[in-house]
Order: sequence, then C-alpha cells, then structure tokens
Amino acid sequence: TALDALDRDAAAALADELRPVVRGLSRAYYTDGESLVGDTQYDRLYHALRAVEAAHPDLVTPDSPTHRVGGAPLDAFRKVEHPVPLLSLGNAFDVDDLRAWVDRVLKGLEGVLAEGERPTFVAELKIDGLALALTYRDGVLERAATRGNGRVGEDVTPNVRTVRAIPLRLAAGAPASVEVRGEAYMARSTFEALNERLVVAGEKTLANPRNGAVGSLRQLDPTVTASRGLAFYSYGIGPVEGDGVPERQSAVLDWLQSLGIPTGPERKTFDDVNALAAFCEEWAHHRDTLDYEIDGVVVKVDRLDYQEVLGFRATEPRWAIAFKFPAREATTRLLDIEHNV
Ligand code: NAD
Repeated sequence: TALDALDRDAAAALADELRPVVRGLSRAYYTDGESLVGDTQYDRLYHALRAVEAAHPDLVTPDSPTHRVGGAPLDAFRKVEHPVPLLSLGNAFDVDDLRAWVDRVLKGLEGVLAEGERPTFVAELKIDGLALALTYRDGVLERAATRGNGRVGEDVTPNVRTVRAIPLRLAAGAPASVEVRGEAYMARSTFEALNERLVVAGEKTLANPRNGAVGSLRQLDPTVTASRGLAFYSYGIGPVEGDGVPERQSAVLDWLQSLGIPTGPERKTFDDVNALAAFCEEWAHHRDTLDYEIDGVVVKVDRLDYQEVLGFRATEPRWAIAFKFPAREATTRLLDIEHNV
C-alpha cells in the first residue's frame, strides 16, 4: 500500500501527528461524551494511524490510542475493575470488508469445521449508547459499571437501579452469578422530548441520543437519571458461575430474555454470507425507521466454542465485527441526488 512505501521518517512524522489528534478526540468522546468531529471522520483518522502502525510496527508506542478501548473512568465515580475486560470491535466499512472477515474466520476455523461445514453467524443491530456490565448475584442486581477503558469502569449502580428497563431481580432459573453486558441508550422520541423540556427550562440541550444516554447515566444525582427514561438491551454475557449457559450466542440472548433481560431486537442468524451481507445493507437503508439510533450491525460467530478457538487480537475479538454504516450526511446527499435525477 501507499503507507508501506512511506519511508520510516515520513511514517514516524505522520504517526506523531495523528496520535495526539486521535487521543484528544477519543478523550472528548468517551470521557466528556462530546463529539468534536463526525464518527466517519474519527474512524478515518483512527484507521490511518492503525495503518501506519501496521506498516511500521516499530512506531507503535505503548500509549497509542489504537491499543486502548474507550476512555478513562471519571474520578467522580468509584472505579470498578472488570474481571474480564470489555472490548472494542473491529470494523467493516463495506461488504468487501465483511467478506474478508468471513474468510479470516473460515481460515481460523480450519481443522475445526467438519467437511463442508459453514459456520452460522448471528447479526445484531449496533445500538448507539454506552456499554454496561451488570452483575447479578443469586438473581439480584448487585453492581452496574460502565465500560470505561475496558479494564476499569465507573460504578453507576445507584443510577442504573432507576432504569426501569433493567430488572433489579432476574426470573427464576438465574445462575449463582452472571455478568450481563449490554447497551444503555436513549430512544429518539425520549431524546426529542427531553430536549424540548431542556429548552423550556432554559438549559443546555443534548447533541444526540448517545450523548443523552451518556450524560443521563453519569449523573451524581440518581433522580436525574430516573427522570431521563433510559432504555437497555443486552448483547451478551461476561463471567458466569453456575449452569444453564447455552452454547450459542443466539441461544444466550434467548436465555437472557427468558431471565427477564431485554435483548437486541431484529437479530437474525445466517449460514449464507450473501444473505448476511444483504441484511447489513438493508439496515443501513432502514435505520431511520427505528426509534433508536443504530450505527451498524454487529456480526458474530454463533457457536461459543468456535469463538473460543478464534480468540482475540489486541483490543478486539476475532469472532465478531461491526459492519459500520456510512455517515448519515453522505447517505442523505446520495439519496437526494437519486431523487433529483
Ligand atoms: P465499537 O464500535 O468498537 O463497538 C464496541 C461497542 O459496541 C461495545 O462496547 C458496545 O457498547 C457496542 N455494541 C452495541 N451493540 C452491540 C452488539 N450487538 N454486540 C456487541 N457490542 C455492541 O465502539 P467503541 O469502542 O466505543 O468505539 C468506536 C466508536 O466510537 C466508533 O463508532 C467511532 O466512530 C466512535 N468515536 C467517535 C469519536 C468522535 O470524535 N466522533 C471519537 C471516538 C470514538
């Protein structure tokens, strides 16, 4: 690639220029809940830095923002160490990227798949909110933490207790202990109503529903969180003690749902990669029909034993990928052009 051809000095200069920019943008985004640039622009800068580092691995610094997940936990909250880190996801920006990822999965499962076997994939909508880890002991909500930097998050238990979508007690059959992972988010309609209220009250409005979710959860006063009408859906589990955990991601979600945890709607399993790609592209076009913001589709290998074989690289699992939608602005413009001709 063009980056391989860059001589080392030029690559080092480029990395030095990109690193503080990416670090500053991600600090604003994760720690302060503020987007200083659009996501697509951020993704471009982030991936440019990653490409330079991939072409010149000796330029990787231990504090590079590409080796981190999320942002630092705020001092205002008690810090919580996650027993198993909450990771980020690799990105696919188009169907070709998605197919390339499927090929890597097939390669990683060589010798594991039976003759002619195609692994099943589960596709889930990627709701844009903030990640939470909820620990239930003996079926009772014991602790809720934000993802933070992936290893250490913020204890937001009193705030989360006010979120009606999150049960304080699981249904019968819950294991001795389970960490439920998922996304807290603000519905679009809730967000609009809240902004109207803030305008009337003469207060600062929120930039977008994600911002609304982050700001509403990281409140020192839980009654503020309670008034914000947050929603939640789960997309998986962390550590579990006890039996009953199913062997597939899709079945884990059904199991969580049966325990009373809301799970991501609209999920679907696929054996056929063309159908999987079509699902991702369809949602890119229909995202506005939903009452919540989605910024992509997360595709995961369904069998958990296969996930284990594939494992992780740096901050991302190899068994999952986020198919990211193109920036909304660009989509609108394209649609406008199509309508005008
Ligand atoms: P990610 O894109 O790497 O995805 C991981 C997160 O996806 C999880 O933590 C979880 O919260 C969420 N998620 C939602 N649905 C899920 C599902 N079904 N299964 C699994 N996970 C699911 O997220 P990230 O690590 O927070 O960072 C990247 C994102 O943040 C990008 O979209 C990037 O554009 C944006 N960002 C923007 C700026 C900016 O300045 N605009 C700065 C930093 C990051």
